[in-house]
Amino acid sequence: MPLVRYRKVVILGYRSVGKTSLAHQFVEGEFLEGYDPTVENTYSKIVTLGKDEFHLHLVDTAGQDEYSILPYSFFIGVHGYVLVYSVTSLHSFRVIESLYQKLYEGHGKTRLPVVLVGNKADLSPNREVQAVEGKKLAESWGATFMESSARENQLTQGIFIKVIHEIARVENSYGQE
Ligand code: GDP
Repeated sequence: MPLVRYRKVVILGYRSVGKTSLAHQFVEGEFLEGYDPTVENTYSKIVTLGKDEFHLHLVDTAGQDEYSILPYSFFIGVHGYVLVYSVTSLHSFRVIESLYQKLYEGHGKTRLPVVLVGNKADLSPNREVQAVEGKKLAESWGATFMESSARENQLTQGIFIKVIHEIARVENSYGQE
């Protein structure tokens, strides 16, 4: 029997890093030009991996900064996180470090299913964050790292498939404790 599972994933990061564009690209397969600040939006998509079906529910949030207080709805009933910064903004990378700490503490310092995403990789000439820095940060959390471009649809599918795998990986690691 194929498994059918519901997965709620919250997308967090500083404003304008491409959170909406990544979710939109993943679900609708197109790139949105222009900047329309998101209040909060949700997207749903069914993803089939092998024999299993995942009902992925994405919460695209209004951007956060280092002073944001994360609401309960970002913790309760959430299976995993996609944390997005822009490779063209060192500030957005710093914000991600502080958001992760808030999630980690809010979850009682347990290992979290996280995919760290350095978006806007197509703007590499304007880079402020090197891939190696993103990789190092994700490794320090035991998480997965990817660079992407919502504009060029580079790896956007991969991000959300990765987060499903990360959720399973963290669940299994608890099962073995
Ligand atoms: P959000 O506030 O984090 O949800 O960011 P948006 O998805 O609204 O994107 C902010 C701006 O960056 C928009 O003008 C997008 O068109 C642009 N953008 C998003 N992703 C990319 C990307 O991968 N490459 C480039 N060049 N622009 C992007």
